[in-house]
Amino acid sequence: MKYRVNSTIKVFKNVMLTATLACLSMSCVSNAKSEKTTTEKPNFIIILTDDQGYADVGFNGSDDIITPNIDRIANEGTKFSNGYVTYAVCGPSRAGILTGRYQGRFGFGRNPIIDPTDENSGMPLEEQMISEVLKPVGYTSSIIGKWHMGTHEKFRPNKRGFDHFYGFLSGGHKYFPSDLTIDKIENAKKDWSWYNTKIMENNKRVEIDEYLTDELSHEAINFIEREQDNPFFLYLAYNAPHTPLQASKEYLDRNTHIKDKKRRTYAAMVTAVDDGVGRILAKLDEFGIDDNTMIFFLSDNGGAKNKGSDNGELRGFKGGYFEGGVHVPFAVRWPGKVPAGVNYQNPVSSLDILGTFAGITKAPIAQERPLDGVNLMPFITGKEKGVPHDVLFWRAFDQGTLATRRGNSKAIQSDRDGNHLFDLANDLAEQNNLITESSVKENNVQYQQLTEEIKAWETELIDPIFKPLQGRHVDSRKRKKNKDTNK
Ligand code: CA
Repeated sequence: MKYRVNSTIKVFKNVMLTATLACLSMSCVSNAKSEKTTTEKPNFIIILTDDQGYADVGFNGSDDIITPNIDRIANEGTKFSNGYVTYAVCGPSRAGILTGRYQGRFGFGRNPIIDPTDENSGMPLEEQMISEVLKPVGYTSSIIGKWHMGTHEKFRPNKRGFDHFYGFLSGGHKYFPSDLTIDKIENAKKDWSWYNTKIMENNKRVEIDEYLTDELSHEAINFIEREQDNPFFLYLAYNAPHTPLQASKEYLDRNTHIKDKKRRTYAAMVTAVDDGVGRILAKLDEFGIDDNTMIFFLSDNGGAKNKGSDNGELRGFKGGYFEGGVHVPFAVRWPGKVPAGVNYQNPVSSLDILGTFAGITKAPIAQERPLDGVNLMPFITGKEKGVPHDVLFWRAFDQGTLATRRGNSKAIQSDRDGNHLFDLANDLAEQNNLITESSVKENNVQYQQLTEEIKAWETELIDPIFKPLQGRHVDSRKRKKNKDTNK
């Protein structure tokens, strides 16, 4: 067992005590490096990894994958031991992160089709992404890495509030420059050949000469250097350690302690990310903007089955709604502002990232598209009593799954995976289904109440607005029992 959840009361006391101590100490700290800063407009960085398992970071107990730099974000900031994403695969999870809204509200309930002629398959233009929310309050934004929010011209990053884009449009990519041979996505006619497209810098294709993860880290540093005097938002969406499992010799050589070849390669891919995070943290310090930069780190979904990842004791994998699919490594760091060394255990959501940015900057949010996420700052600093979310919801349209967590109770109602009720306080591993033929009446009543609550929430959602990636020529409504696409 790599970690455990304590009783709610004990946790709450610990969080409050630690948060209070951190706040007290912060008021005594001089802010020597912050001449360039204003507290209202800190720089924001989201470092998003792809398919990284809950237990694949040191701060969640990994003892084979060594992540000292990623761990700094958690150890010098606040770690969320119950941090969730809103979908168990890449595209919809990212749609939630970038809008602060449940993706089902705007029909992004599956991975988008990679087809630049498809005018439906992407983030609806009326939705406001973080970059679009922050632009009116003076931010310059960059997306570096994986986009996955639509490939049609109208959906591309530079049309969505991002001033700078360096990366690729599709849901995955190869890592070695010699594999990147296709000049543009229009020429990637075969499924998955888009993994071989050349990297884009804004609307141009560029040649790269480094292992892709290193390339993305360097570009992130270049962007930070250019924008160090202005408020910026950097969305650094590494595709590592998503398949294909490809690592350079340098990183493989640092993971020879791992005997399993697949795990070693996966670990090496995480090492590359960790090195990048370390270089970024060093540069923020060198530029004197470390104290004025808030960094969120998380994975877009849990580790995938049989791909070298480790979700620890959490049940299940990417694509499913047991904890292993959506309960992810998650932390935030902002020196002097976010309490350091705190393990915050109340459930938080990736939807809260935009809620937090908007709360700090007072950036306006369109009334007709209210956020589902909240500003986490009052909660993690202890100013706000109570919890950020009484309830969290999930819907995976194609597999007929609905799920919710209210307090420590979690209900799953799934055509694919069956019906479940778990008490996460005592059974985080979801081994003891509380609704069975012999289960007690109270559990059945509770399950009933939770599923009614999910169904009430579901009435606010719409069906996916684009067809699925696999079997996209089939009417989506006939596919309800099919598995979610796993790319
Ligand atoms: Ca993913």
